[in-house]
Amino acid sequence: MTGEDELKVEFYRHALGEEEKKSVVECLGGLFLTSGAYVSEFEGRFADYFGPSRWCIALNSCTAALHLSLLALNIGRGDEVITTPMTFIATATAILHTGARPVFVDVEPATGLMDCNRVEKAVTPSTRAILPVHLYGSMCDMLRLREIADRYGLKMVEDSAHCIEGARDGVRPGQLSDAACFSFYATKNLTCGEGGAVVTGNQELADRIRLLRQHGMSREAADRYHGSYRHWDMLECGWKYNMDNIHASILLPQLHKVDTLWAERQRLYRLYAEALSDVPGVRLPAIPQGSKSAHHLFTVLLEDADRDLVLHALSRQEIGVAVNYRAIHLLTYLRSALNHHPGDFPAAEKIGDGTLSLPFWVGMTPEHVAAVVSALRKSLP
Ligand SMILES: *Cc1c(COP(=O)(O)O)cnc(C)c1O
Repeated sequence: MTGEDELKVEFYRHALGEEEKKSVVECLGGLFLTSGAYVSEFEGRFADYFGPSRWCIALNSCTAALHLSLLALNIGRGDEVITTPMTFIATATAILHTGARPVFVDVEPATGLMDCNRVEKAVTPSTRAILPVHLYGSMCDMLRLREIADRYGLKMVEDSAHCIEGARDGVRPGQLSDAACFSFYATKNLTCGEGGAVVTGNQELADRIRLLRQHGMSREAADRYHGSYRHWDMLECGWKYNMDNIHASILLPQLHKVDTLWAERQRLYRLYAEALSDVPGVRLPAIPQGSKSAHHLFTVLLEDADRDLVLHALSRQEIGVAVNYRAIHLLTYLRSALNHHPGDFPAAEKIGDGTLSLPFWVGMTPEHVAAVVSALRKSLP
């Protein structure tokens, strides 16, 4: 055995350091722990990242961002929302929480992204919205989806949990949809442990989401305090989804690093792609023409091997692995709630059975990448 083979590689390690520690300590030394100045500053700067005239509403998860975006667009009972089965379950549960029904369409075998050619056929008189997912950081064809949404008068909400930095055909998240939803969960590109946000170009929608995130209260905490007590009213029956200052203080120092961290992940992506180029039976999901991937996950597709055997063999060699994702229409609850069966979405099922995500985080060295690839070679039949 060489040293390289013995290297243990975690699936994910965050890159938070001194700047984030300093910021959170400063926040704890202040008066306001809940939503206040740190959250407002984060919202302003995160919105600016996506271009002019954008609004950002910071929340406690991307699940909440999807839920409130749909609610604020008046989607609910009896409505259908077209989405993909190759995603995290939150995409579907957010739709279900509004009372609407997720209607899945199959994915493109090469990219794993929702197949735009199938979207139009899934439109019924009950369809109200399309919810594309920018899987692994690759963007869906937003120009095509915008055309379809316009033709049928549909709303569009992007699940952009994997895609802050990406673009396709010059389009970035939130630019052609009603709202784009982001996650700051522990393993995402920007993280504070748990958090999320909506970015939208529609100020009225932003105001409605802001109301719904805090019980439908007419004033948020910082506004209620404001030196002296002021009465507030309840205008709607809302939720408790606001982001607090502590989480925002961890996110703020990361904003100026988004693009340098992306460049680091791109470097790792290229190292992996090069090292895997002569490994038979291992294919990378295609990145669509004319697009920049946000490079959120490093996912491979195994063409011949039994994925679960390879996954366990890698675990035994202390290489962290994950599955993003098994096709969600076959998970027990969704399968019975939506009456799905194996074979309903063959391309998503094939990916779901053959996919494996390898360690991918800023701070990984070329030795880490070599160790992962060497362990993968040994795990293949
Ligand atoms: C992480 C993730 C979510 C949920 O994000 P939370 O912030 O954990 O609610 C939704 N969709 C996708 C594709 C994700 O990867």
